[in-house]
Amino acid sequence: MEAEKLWQSVLGEIELQISRANYLTWLKDSKIISQEENAILIALPNNFVKEWVENKYHKMILGTVRSFNETIKKIDYVVHTQAIDLTRINKKINQEIQKQTSFSELRVDPETNLNPRYTLDSFIVGSSNELAYAAILSVIKEVGKKYNPLFIYGGVGLGKTHLIQAAGNEIKKNYKNEVKVKYIPSETYIRDIVSAIRNKRIEDTKNKYRDIDVLIIDDIQFIGGKEKTEEEFFHTFNALYENNKQIIISSDRPPRSIPTLEERLQSRFEGGMIADVGYPDYETRVAIIKSKLEEKKMTLTDDLINIIANKVKRNVRELEGVIHKISLKSEREGIIAKTVIMDTLRETISQPSLNISPQQIIQAVAHFFEISPEDLTNRSRKKEVVEPRQIAAFLMRELLNLSYPFIGEKLGKRDHTTIIHSCDKIAQGINKNASLNQKILLIKEEVYKT
Ligand code: ADP
Ligand code: MG
Repeated sequence: MEAEKLWQSVLGEIELQISRANYLTWLKDSKIISQEENAILIALPNNFVKEWVENKYHKMILGTVRSFNETIKKIDYVVHTQAIDLTRINKKINQEIQKQTSFSELRVDPETNLNPRYTLDSFIVGSSNELAYAAILSVIKEVGKKYNPLFIYGGVGLGKTHLIQAAGNEIKKNYKNEVKVKYIPSETYIRDIVSAIRNKRIEDTKNKYRDIDVLIIDDIQFIGGKEKTEEEFFHTFNALYENNKQIIISSDRPPRSIPTLEERLQSRFEGGMIADVGYPDYETRVAIIKSKLEEKKMTLTDDLINIIANKVKRNVRELEGVIHKISLKSEREGIIAKTVIMDTLRETISQPSLNISPQQIIQAVAHFFEISPEDLTNRSRKKEVVEPRQIAAFLMRELLNLSYPFIGEKLGKRDHTTIIHSCDKIAQGINKNASLNQKILLIKEEVYKT
């Protein structure tokens, strides 16, 4: 690949991994100066940016460069000679941030923690989620009366967060200030409880949660095994429930399958309505693709939509990712050819995993972290192998769908609950931590190459 094209591709990848503001600040004005056999030279606008990029992004850049061209081992950075117009850049950043803000993520309502981007209107209903959707509608209509708690569960990226937040937004809209809605990811809840205990302020949290009318807790599975938190939640739950307050819960699995969840909580969760969301069927996938394209004011032929719908089947977030990438490429290249779509799909999707072995995953992870495969498969508790081992567990689960006990056996005879924890930790981390996400992408590529 010629230098210019290589660098554009690298930037295209990185743009998806880091925030828009970061991208514009640090990398947008980078240029490739030269490419030799195993080294490239990158120019940056000033010393400050150069230092920042070297410290913060070098690893990610190198990894990404190598995913396009393996022979490159070294990247050097220099400062542009030509002066740059800082005000212009700043203006641009502000415009971008504004655009982003008006669009979505940053506008989370501090009162409710709800993100207004999640609406019922933008949620596509199909056979995989119609039960959960119907339950949500009932709850909106009869808050606290009909299905309490409402427990929604299903795999990653299938719309749980979207649905339960949409319920919150809709209730807020219908009842204005009469109803106090609160959305809380269970990690936040756990953190709150832990710090309240540490600061001896547990009474405060009790009150904080008890005057809520609609409590929405996302990804409840994480409280399993955290005894103090479970205990507090049990009391909060009862207090709300007895006062006919609505409780909406999501989880990646049914109550019964949450490891070490106290029985009394389990039976509380089972006492209301339980609805699952599954993989979207073909028609639903097509409808989702069309609606995401519409959001981006793009159109594709039915033929191309069909190709995407047939490739991305098990994760709506992945489907969105593909559309997003295609829209970026279309901005850059002007037209959307079939090959662009095929490339994007190839780059983005976890491929079917029929002929990969657990050993290949262990090898690839070990190679990436420059440790020996035995470090992953023995019982060592060395700190530097903790994350690699968690990643190996996650990939075995994700790519091979192996059972937790089996994975535990492979990775140093570890208990299956440890493995569940590892998988959850990485799955959560991917969404928040760009460099972790990048590591996983690179390791996956390596797995598929072998
Ligand atoms: P989960 O919480 O189940 O992991 P999310 O609710 O975060 O999944 O969904 C992932 C992404 O896919 C979100 O951006 C969401 O808006 C989108 N999404 C999921 N299901 C649908 C759907 N049925 N219609 C429209 N968008 C959807
Ligand atoms: Mg979610």
